[in-house]
Amino acid sequence: MTKVINGKELAQDLRNKLKEEIINLKAKYNKVPGLAVVQIGNVAASSVYVKAKTKSAKEVGIEIIDHHLDQEISELNLIKLIKKLNNQDNVNGILVQLPLPNHINEQIILDTIHPDKDADGFHPLNVGKLSISATNDENLLIPCTPYGCLLMLRGLNVDLKGKNVVVIGRSNIVGKPMAQLLLKESCTVTIAHSKTKELSKLCRDADILIAAVGRPEIVREDWVKNGAIVIDVGINRIDIEEDGKLKTKLVGDVLYSEVESKASAITPVPGGVGPMTIACLLRNTTIAFKNKLSN
Ligand code: NAD
Repeated sequence: MTKVINGKELAQDLRNKLKEEIINLKAKYNKVPGLAVVQIGNVAASSVYVKAKTKSAKEVGIEIIDHHLDQEISELNLIKLIKKLNNQDNVNGILVQLPLPNHINEQIILDTIHPDKDADGFHPLNVGKLSISATNDENLLIPCTPYGCLLMLRGLNVDLKGKNVVVIGRSNIVGKPMAQLLLKESCTVTIAHSKTKELSKLCRDADILIAAVGRPEIVREDWVKNGAIVIDVGINRIDIEEDGKLKTKLVGDVLYSEVESKASAITPVPGGVGPMTIACLLRNTTIAFKNKLSN
């Protein structure tokens, strides 16, 4: 029988552990982790994410330092704010919600965040640490979505060593760090992307298939080996017609209705990877806090 991986439940477990840890840290040091959340403008999707992240952070006892800025803020003023947050004692993690307006260079902003406060794990120093460190845990700040996927895989209690993994997508925030994490679990990893030839054939060889493409339901039944584990990172909003009305619906990169019966385990969308991403952001913030305490 196919196991449907419940991201909501796993994320709740992780949040419960973090909450307990933060209570203990507060009792010992009389401090709690602080997360600065920087949102620019009013992109609807960003507001939804920021709201969800803020709610979850507060639930585990993380203090939120909220900065909601005007769409027109200059790159220079945003850099000034981040530098101020870099030096602010009650801020352990800084999250700049992406995407940024076109007039602001995303990489310059991400590089300005102090690597010790890099809640998203996107700073080049942390990307480098992820690449060269021998293990995946300890005190590393790791990009949240791929780390959440790794926790889901670990939760299945299957031996990851030597498994053939295909990661579809080579972005800096999902595909590449996902591959790094799985390489360290001793998987044999192939990264596929928009120029990959015979993608479906390649995917059919995968024991674990991770789709981080951003193309609705691109992964079909005949892309998946019998008994493969399928992790669907994609979040795509599509138009559907229901009762004669036009509505929108969230779907993943995997055609769930086709693939479910073929996989040994699969993540749904929504309720799969998404909640884990947020929980891992809280994990990074707590790690940054603990790293500072131990310095
Ligand atoms: P991205 O656009 O930066 O990267 C997409 C990747 O897919 C690229 O590397 C590209 O080469 C590859 N690609 C595009 N079309 C392809 C095709 N036809 N065949 C094979 N490869 C193709 O996107 P991203 O930021 O990595 O996000 C990917 C998806 O994951 C999106 O749907 C995004 O919304 C979702 N996402 C979800 C979470 C979450 O928490 N669940 C977090 C981040 C991203």
